[in-house]
Amino acid sequence: MNTIDKDLAGRVAVVTGASSGMGRATALLLASRGAKVALLARRKDALDALAAEIRQQGGEAIALVTDVTNQASVEASAAAVRKELGNADLVFNNAGLMLPGAIGSQPQHEWESQIDLNVTGAMRVIQAFIPQMEEAAAQGKVVDLINTSSIAGQYVFGYFAVYSATKAFVSHLTRHLRVELGPKNIRVSVIEPGITETELQSHFTFQGAIDWLENASKSIDFLKAEDIAATVGFIVSMPKHVNMQQIVIMPTKEGI
Ligand code: NDP
Repeated sequence: MNTIDKDLAGRVAVVTGASSGMGRATALLLASRGAKVALLARRKDALDALAAEIRQQGGEAIALVTDVTNQASVEASAAAVRKELGNADLVFNNAGLMLPGAIGSQPQHEWESQIDLNVTGAMRVIQAFIPQMEEAAAQGKVVDLINTSSIAGQYVFGYFAVYSATKAFVSHLTRHLRVELGPKNIRVSVIEPGITETELQSHFTFQGAIDWLENASKSIDFLKAEDIAATVGFIVSMPKHVNMQQIVIMPTKEGI
């Protein structure tokens, strides 16, 4: 690991959705820059492998199997972070699920699970880590809460109604929390990515969206998870008085 750019040394980062995609790439980046990183997701094997990779590169990470749709699970992980790493001062609130479908025929568990994870799960993570972030801020540390939304939160796509609405919640929540938490020296940001090559689309069951994805992949170079990690890295490298509220990041060729 490169030792010259340890600008995040001393920081305690929590990454949800760390077992794949944007969360995984961001955890690697934050650890490479010196942050201690808590890796949260449900898949133990993937988290353990990532923690081992980070340690092998000279970084520090703990794997915490967490289901963010389960209150006790999130609270247990928040307690473990405080005990093992100290108060979290950088929370990348990123776990999410995208399941397009037609209103009326989409199975209930598909629309419901997006709300449970993207809305209620995201709120659970914020509620569980706010006390630690407030304590860290009161001690004078730089503190960041970064939520992953989507361009779907502000644009309209057919058959993505529920997913888009969950992300509109995340974006608008961020705007409000920035106003509420800024005076306490906690920065609050939202990243709204366009289409990004991760595992997210592998869960689609709606044929219209599967077909659209296949066509789009022929004409658009999708974003990479590392592009989102770099964006998180940019946000947290800003001076303490600067809060990047909202960043939209798109593949160059993606139209709306
Ligand atoms: P991935 O599917 O690769 O990652 C999703 C992550 O969420 C996984 O690590 C998964 O881990 C975790 N997760 C799912 N359910 C739970 C749960 N109940 N509890 C804890 N963790 C959970 O997709 P991305 O990296 O693309 O997604 C990251 C975020 O980016 C999401 O919020 C998504 O909505 C958003 N986004 C994605 C875009 C894209 O095109 N890919 C575009 C715009 C936004 P595990 O299964 O191990 O629990």
